Amino acid sequence: DAQQIEAGRRAHELDRAHVFHSWQAQGPFAPMTIVDAAGPYVWDGEGRKLLDMSSQLVNTNIGHQHPAVVAAIQEQAGKLCTIAPQHVNDARSEAARLITERTPGDLDHVFFTNGGADANEHAIRMARLHTGRTKVLSAYRSYHGGTQLAVNVTGDPRRFANDYSAEGIVHFMPAYPYRSYFNSTSEAEETQRALAHLEDMITLEGPGNIAALILETVPGTAGIYAPPAGYLAGVRELTAKYGIVFIADEVMAGFGRTGRWFAVDHWDVTPDLITFAKGVNSGYVPLGGVAISDAIFETFRDRAYPGGLTYSGHPLACAAAVATITAMEDEGMIANAERLGEDIIGPTLREMAQRHPSVGDVRGLGCFWAVELVKDRTTKEPLAAYGGSSPEMNEVIAALKAEGVLPFANFNRIHVVPPLNTPDEDVRFGLAALDRALDVADRYVTE
Ligand code: PLP
Repeated sequence: DAQQIEAGRRAHELDRAHVFHSWQAQGPFAPMTIVDAAGPYVWDGEGRKLLDMSSQLVNTNIGHQHPAVVAAIQEQAGKLCTIAPQHVNDARSEAARLITERTPGDLDHVFFTNGGADANEHAIRMARLHTGRTKVLSAYRSYHGGTQLAVNVTGDPRRFANDYSAEGIVHFMPAYPYRSYFNSTSEAEETQRALAHLEDMITLEGPGNIAALILETVPGTAGIYAPPAGYLAGVRELTAKYGIVFIADEVMAGFGRTGRWFAVDHWDVTPDLITFAKGVNSGYVPLGGVAISDAIFETFRDRAYPGGLTYSGHPLACAAAVATITAMEDEGMIANAERLGEDIIGPTLREMAQRHPSVGDVRGLGCFWAVELVKDRTTKEPLAAYGGSSPEMNEVIAALKAEGVLPFANFNRIHVVPPLNTPDEDVRFGLAALDRALDVADRYVTE
């Protein structure tokens, strides 16, 4: 309404005067104002309704303003807003129970953090102390967070400007069938060659020096490229063989995004540590954490863990997690995410790929899909170069927004990552808008 729009204008003015934004050149940055949000929808500064097909930064897995979660935060705020991490708190205990009931294997202990980057920092610290080694292996085409160590293990251009103090961090080539680094012609070949490469890397770096291997179970921002069959099991086998701690980063892929509580469940793999954030409480209050195996827990049974944070297991965040996990369970959101992927998003995107020559690849699972746009399907020349945007991609994104859809875009990709409880007709609306926006991309196909 008019009042919200006026308040939004004032907020925009103050933002431009005083707010310093993530990852941006502050001058040219033109942020969109959001004046309201409900379920899978947001309203912009002009009061226009947009379908949030990005789930913000792929975190609002239950959509905006879920009433049960809002009520739980309000109730917790009325009871106890904050408490130091050394004390027992019922919201924290219950969140830990609900999380560890869902993690695979013996990952039965949780260290809570404020978000995903610090979860990864702590997972690596635990691995180093547990093994007495220092090196860390991580994949190119990955994202692990914006703090120093997390950005150093990241394999994305945001690392470049921050790539000092990165001693002992070694990147390997991941399995990525669409743009295989190993000239593979099948998924089986990609798995076999990517694992052979990884074992070579371990040998060449010295297995006795490597504390951890960190890998997104399904890499997210870097392109939602799910591992080919056998790859994760192979990574598990190699890390076990060489005594390396396997950290699965499920900050984006976890908590139902792929149609399972954790993405590793698709491949029946149990890592040593799982890091999570985002979907654990849909980001209503900042929360992340590390799920820890019994063996790593034992390292710190009689030895102090040298790490902590004031807000570890914050009651408001944990109460939000309890309500979120309960709502996901009660409303069948995990199964719904799988169904949306199998019955609607996957088939519709594949059908669109047949008609739009700009679509190089379509891939995903659950509510976690990427559409990779190219100028030429044979050479796979991307519609925007690695690490950048392009006028062509900006035109596609603008077309989607004009259709009333807020997309998640990265380089030459549009990601289809709606909340897991988005009604079918809204998902279809978003996909139809994408279909029309791809007509814009098709104009730039050169072959
Ligand atoms: N790991 C992955 C896979 C992510 O996608 C992200 C954020 O996008 C992070 C880590 C960092 O999480 P945060 O931004 O909460 O620090």
